[in-house]
This record gives sequence, C-alpha cells and structure tokens, in this order.
Amino acid sequence: MIKVGYDAGHGFHTAGKRTPDGEREWSFNDKVARAFANELALYKGVMTRRFDDPTGQRDVPLRERTNGANNWAANFYISFHHNALGSRWGNHTGVETFIHTNPQPRSIELANAIHPAVVTSYGLRDRGIKRGNLHIVRETTMPAILIEGGFMDSLIDITKLRKDAVLASAGRAVAQKLAKFVGLSRVFPENREELSMAQYEELRRLIDAQARRIQELERLIGLEEREPLATHAKEWEWATRIGLLTDIYPNRPLTREQYAEVEYRKASGEIQLKVEPE
Ligand SMILES: [Zn+2]
Repeated sequence: MIKVGYDAGHGFHTAGKRTPDGEREWSFNDKVARAFANELALYKGVMTRRFDDPTGQRDVPLRERTNGANNWAANFYISFHHNALGSRWGNHTGVETFIHTNPQPRSIELANAIHPAVVTSYGLRDRGIKRGNLHIVRETTMPAILIEGGFMDSLIDITKLRKDAVLASAGRAVAQKLAKFVGLSRVFPENREELSMAQYEELRRLIDAQARRIQELERLIGLEEREPLATHAKEWEWATRIGLLTDIYPNRPLTREQYAEVEYRKASGEIQLKVEPE
C-alpha cells in the first residue's frame, strides 16, 4: 500500500496569503488538493491523508503536518500552493515546483515526473523545478515536493486560478503522474463498458466513502439538515403538503431523477397542484 500525504497550504484565514482582491490562497489550493485526492482514489493500492484542516478554519502548523506525515510513514508528500510576489497586481507569471536544497534523489525524480503536467494543466509559463529550504520539503522524511501553481497576484495567472476546471485538471494531472511514477493501476480500466461484480463492489465502496466524507464536511460547515428559510417557508409547506416533494433536506439540490419524479407526480394527476388564494 502506497501512502501519500498532502496538504492545501496555510488556512483560509491565514494573514497575507490572498490576492489583491482578497481571494484566499487556501481556496485555490483546496480545489487542486481535492481533485488530486479524488483522482487518486480511483487507483488500487494507494491511500491518501490530508494534513491541513480540510475546512480551512485552522492553519495547521507546519511542524504538525510534517510530524503527522512522518509518523504515518507516508511514502510521498505533496503540498499544493499558489505563489505571490507581493500585494499588488503585476505581470509576473508561471508555475514552479520546489524540492529541498539538498533533496533525496527520489524527490528530484518525483518533481520531474509531475512538474511538466502541472505546467500543461495551468497553461502558464514553466519556471522550472527549484530548490528551497522550505519546512515542508525539509522536515518530511519521504520524497516531497511543493507545487506553486501560478501567481495569485498576477493579472495573467489569476485568470487561470479563477477557473475551477483548471484547478481540478491540475489536481487530476498530479494524481495521474504520481500513479504512473509509482506504477499504480486504476480500479477499473478507463475504457470498459461493463463492470465485474468485484469492480462494482469496489466502486460502491468508493462512493460510500466519498458520501461519508461529504457528509462529514457538510456537518463541519453547518450544512446538515435544517429548517427551510423563512423566505421559502410558504412554498416549502405547500410543496411537501401536497406531496410534490418529500419533507426532508430543504437545502439540498435535486438530482435529474428526482426532478423527473416531481414532474411525473404533476403529470400523473396524483396530486392537486392548484394553490389556494391567500
Ligand atoms: Zn502558499
């Protein structure tokens, strides 16, 4: 089992660490880190552990992150960041990947395997693989890299950072290149139309694990089941009373199949749709 530690740098509230417009570095980092972990979950023989606070509320000290990864005996460590030159917009640009000033050979190989794909995903200038005496790559005992995916105070780079699809593709690319570097195979081949029962069960297990993760995150940010908002109370009461919607989760989106069911209930005439005049 390959163990991969990762983090999304800093915390949401960390001083500095924001664009001149106030967007938070952590929010950019977090999107890349999530896409990375979700993609790696599609491979066999690998597990990931995140060492920053996935809600962003606490800026987990660097010492705590590296101690955590060392104690867990991670095989690799990847830290996701975005760069800044200062506090004003400028035209500096590009992606760079850091390894320690005195790196393990395996860290150099890891950076070489991953960095070009990061550059391609962002579509920004290649500033190369750099060496730096950074805590996260110095104090981790396993091969480690720190990715700076473009400058958040760059008028050029910010256009990429504001696109979730770019951040997600960067995270996926890092996972795919890491998987290739380590020689991992996917849980299911990419081009198979039918799943075996074992593959189906594996998929089910992954989906359940993700659902539990999402539930836990929703609970942490206060997105559990709640009463409908006062602004929608009248409509909610009506829709649930006549049976258009079931009486749970007023704050959740409908899936397409649930929407089909709502339309079916209306079309089949099984419910009385008319709203009584107030
Ligand atoms: Zn950073």
